[in-house]
Amino acid sequence: MQDCDYRDTHLTHLGRDATVSGGFVNVPVCRGSTILADTLEQWTQRKEPDNPYASYGRFTNPTLQTLAQAVADLEGGHRAWLFPSGLAACTHALQGMLQQGDHVLLPDSVYGPVRAFALQVLSKRLGVHVQFYEPSLGAGLAALLRDNTKVVYVESPGSGTFEIQDIPAIARCAHQVGAYVIMDNTWATPLFFRPFEHGVDISIQAATKYLTGHSDALLGVATANERAWPLLRQAAHDFGQTAGPDDAFLALRGLRTLGVRLRQHQASALQLARFLECQPQVRRVLHPALESHPGHALWKRDFHGSTGLFGVVLEPLSAEQLSRFFRALRLFGIGLSWGGFESLALPMDMPLRDGRPLFGPGQLLRLHAGLEDVQDLQDDLQSALTAAYRVREVCRA
Ligand SMILES: *Cc1c(COP(=O)(O)O)cnc(C)c1O
Repeated sequence: MQDCDYRDTHLTHLGRDATVSGGFVNVPVCRGSTILADTLEQWTQRKEPDNPYASYGRFTNPTLQTLAQAVADLEGGHRAWLFPSGLAACTHALQGMLQQGDHVLLPDSVYGPVRAFALQVLSKRLGVHVQFYEPSLGAGLAALLRDNTKVVYVESPGSGTFEIQDIPAIARCAHQVGAYVIMDNTWATPLFFRPFEHGVDISIQAATKYLTGHSDALLGVATANERAWPLLRQAAHDFGQTAGPDDAFLALRGLRTLGVRLRQHQASALQLARFLECQPQVRRVLHPALESHPGHALWKRDFHGSTGLFGVVLEPLSAEQLSRFFRALRLFGIGLSWGGFESLALPMDMPLRDGRPLFGPGQLLRLHAGLEDVQDLQDDLQSALTAAYRVREVCRA
């Protein structure tokens, strides 16, 4: 792993502008639609060619602007746009780069709702050629590229399956045919993966997760480089995409503590992953920072750290045993999303690749290590494993 680089000083100070906040440490929640101009000249001036939209609440607002700039800055991109959810950021980035007849490549490990959007909207309704590829392909992706390939989508690690992708190799191939590389960088956050240093053109954060960090808002951010920015901005405008200032304020607040939170998520998840790897009821742990992970070397080369979400494959168990596992958990909640302060556990369907279960037989689980004491979390998992696999006294008549 490269040296940990939390950039805490940067996180503490970025986007703080006393002229916007009136001296307060935090920029206020700015609510509003109409922005009045003092004179007709000022009104005309605001609609300058570089920013014809700087005159309405849907296009600009000090709270939204501060967050967008802070995230663009952290990701290392040119500009960012806010969306009302992480999924909206993914779908609008995709449709903004694509038109009828274009070809798009997405990894098999892509976030499920993005896969559904690609099939139901891009393919069926917009006439885009959608193709899925094996996430570990790397430079082998070149064989799949066509003259009309406009987007190569990447997500590393993969949703629920945690494959690490060779993003620099993929980006080099994609750029040879002029395609845009769109990355879902939610798992690593810009603190642990610098997308633009690895050839990404648009980086997406489901800010619902770590950026906001408290499970109290839904928000997405897409950051583009200079090449992709005009198309991304146009797509956001054409579809009327914006975000609420209260949610943006919460994300800005979350951002200040991203470094310290991730440090704890990282340490706790690693301890739990190592613990689980030694348990007889566990077939496999899917965590890229473990030496046993097939993508470990790539992760070490490209990432600055690991976060709190990882996968576990339990030895095969019955529905009744799985139910006992979840009933025995006291601290891990059963629920969607992740990236908040609380620990979560969720059973996942084992994905099929080429018709076969990806990780063999067994039950796939997704765990999020929250900010509870890690020993308490470990004890919780231990007792759930014991409850699920304990030999029951069978009464025979
Ligand atoms: C949760 C998630 C999203 C979608 O974010 P929402 O804010 O829930 O719409 C996108 N990508 C990944 C990898 C996610 O985990």
